[in-house]
Amino acid sequence: MSLKGLKALVTAGPTHEPIDPVRFIGNRSSGKQGYAIAEALAEAGADVTLISGPTALQTNLNLTRVETTQEMLAACEQNLPADIAICAAAVSDWAPVTFADHKIKKREGEDTLTLTLKKNPDILRTISRHKNRPKLVIGFAAETQDVLENAQAKLSSKGCDWILANDVSGGKTFSADENHVYLITKSGTEEWPRAHKTEIARQLIDKIAEYFKNGQ
Ligand code: C5P
Repeated sequence: MSLKGLKALVTAGPTHEPIDPVRFIGNRSSGKQGYAIAEALAEAGADVTLISGPTALQTNLNLTRVETTQEMLAACEQNLPADIAICAAAVSDWAPVTFADHKIKKREGEDTLTLTLKKNPDILRTISRHKNRPKLVIGFAAETQDVLENAQAKLSSKGCDWILANDVSGGKTFSADENHVYLITKSGTEEWPRAHKTEIARQLIDKIAEYFKNGQ
């Protein structure tokens, strides 16, 4: 199915929130699912921009590399308007309030270090409520309990159209090649069989093509 003529924006990978010049807050996202989706969109003919946090992955797609959530948000906004936005990045919810210009040193007699964190902007929510909102906005929900309930709640709290939800309890999914997801839309929930992330991406692209074919 063809997505020719459609512009798509994909976020992928983790974000890194710097603490000092050598340390950051990050997470275990490999970026594999987001990159696979971006590649599949391009194969289907879409004009794709991939906005990626730090990953070890290579691609020939149009790629903007960022580190922090703030940078990821700015890169997304620069690439609107678009027809489709897929937020697959594992964005850090929190960032240190201050950045230490020099490496934070251990101090004699101090056994604890307190870091104050501030809430990061929510990219998916911002895109979903943007004046240039893409026609189709898709988010992910990585849950460790009550996967479906939490993902359904996320659909309305974020304001996106679809959520791909997965169970990440016990270290499943992050860095793995396979994924087991549910597609949650306003009209219902579908369970997709466990499959390679490239296969999940292709299945998602079929759904997207169907959506645009039906003139929604
Ligand atoms: O709120 P939670 O992190 O569970 O939501 C996951 C979804 O929201 C993912 O699609 C993720 O890319 C997106 N997200 C975001 N910006 C944030 C936090 C999450 O875009 N600050």
